[in-house]
Amino acid sequence: MAAHPDDTYFLEDGSVVLLAGETLFKVHYTRLIELSPAFKHLVETISAQVDGEPALIVEGVSAAQLKSFLWAIYASPEDVEDFFESSNSVEMCMRLVNIAAVAQQYACTRRAAWALPKLHAAWGVLKDPVPAYLVQGLLSVHTTQTIPLPAHIHQRLLRDIELGRPGVIGGIIYSGPRCTPRDLLGAAYYAALLLGPNGWEESLALSSEHHNVLYRGYHNVAEHWRGMEGFPPPLAHACAYDEEQRCDRAWRHAWTLCVASDTVRDPERANADILGRLSAARAAVHAACNGRVTIAGQEVEVGLKSRMKEKCVERAQEAVERAIEFVKSQLCNFFVPTARGEAVVVSPILSDLTASSSRTAASSRTMSAFASGRTGRVARAMLVPR
Ligand SMILES: [Zn+2]
Repeated sequence: MAAHPDDTYFLEDGSVVLLAGETLFKVHYTRLIELSPAFKHLVETISAQVDGEPALIVEGVSAAQLKSFLWAIYASPEDVEDFFESSNSVEMCMRLVNIAAVAQQYACTRRAAWALPKLHAAWGVLKDPVPAYLVQGLLSVHTTQTIPLPAHIHQRLLRDIELGRPGVIGGIIYSGPRCTPRDLLGAAYYAALLLGPNGWEESLALSSEHHNVLYRGYHNVAEHWRGMEGFPPPLAHACAYDEEQRCDRAWRHAWTLCVASDTVRDPERANADILGRLSAARAAVHAACNGRVTIAGQEVEVGLKSRMKEKCVERAQEAVERAIEFVKSQLCNFFVPTARGEAVVVSPILSDLTASSSRTAASSRTMSAFASGRTGRVARAMLVPR
C-alpha cells in the first residue's frame, strides 16, 4: 500500500493512526472519543496494517474530508479566525462541507451544528464559478442531514442553472436523485438537454449513463410536445353549457394555428426546448385574441375574441399559463423515474392534458394536478426559456 503520512496531522505524540484514502493521520484517540463515541467503533471493527503498524481505516471518508475535520478539532481559535478572513469562498465552503460530512458520519452533532450554519452563510456570498465537486459535497451533506437545503441556497442553485453555470448543472446531475431535490434535478437535466450532446461532453463532462438519461428525456419531451401540439390545454368554461362545444372547437382551431405559427416553429430554437415553445405559444395566443398569427410567412386571421366569450378567452390564456407551470413542475419526470421506480410518468400527464373534449372529471383532475405542483413554484421564476 502506497500510504503516506499527512504533512500536518501526523502528530508525533498521537496515539492512533487513521487511514483515509492513501493518507495516514496520527491523532489523539481521547480527542476523537470526546467528540463522539461513534469513533470507538472504528477501533472495534476495521483495521489495516501499514508498514507493520496498525492503522484504522476510516471508511467512506476521503483524505481531504478527514484533514478538514481534524483541522476543526486541532486548529487554534486564531487559526480558525485567520482562515475565515483570508481564504476564498470556494475553499471555505469546501472545508465546511468536509467537516460537516465527517461530523455527520461519526455522529459528532455539535461539530456538525457548528459547521452547517457557517456553510450556509458562506454559500450566500460564494463567488462564481462554483465547481461541480462543491455542489456535490453540499448536496450529499444535506441528504444525510435532517436539515433540508436552506431556501436561499436552493434559489441560488436554480438561478445558477438558469444562467447555464456548468459547475452547478454538472454537480447536480452527478449528485443524482438520491441527493437532489427533484425540481433542481429536473431543471439541471433540462438545462443540459438544451446544451446538446457536445455540451454534455465538453462543458459538463457527463458519463455515458447520464447521456442515456438525456436521450430518454429528449424523447419524452418531444413526445410530450407532440401531444400538446395536437390538443389545447383544457379550459374551464365560463360560457353557458350549450355554448361549450362551439367554444371548444374555436379554442382547438386557434391553438392549432398558434402552435403552427412561425414564432413557435422557429428553426433556431432547440428541438427539445419545450418551455421555449410553450412561451412562444403563449405569445401567439395573446396575438390571436384580437387578430392574426403568422404561419410560414403568411398572416392568418384567428380573431379568437370574435368566436369565444371574452371570459372563456381569458380562461384559455390561463390554461396556457397552467400548462407552462405544469411542465416546469414535472421536468424531472421526463428524465428520472419517480422514487417508486415507475417508468417516466409522462403519458398520464399527456392523457390528462389531452382529455379536453368536454368539461369532465379528466379536466378537473388536470386542474388539481396543475394546482398541486409544489416544486413548480420554485422553478417558476427560473428556466426562463431563451
Ligand atoms: Zn366557453
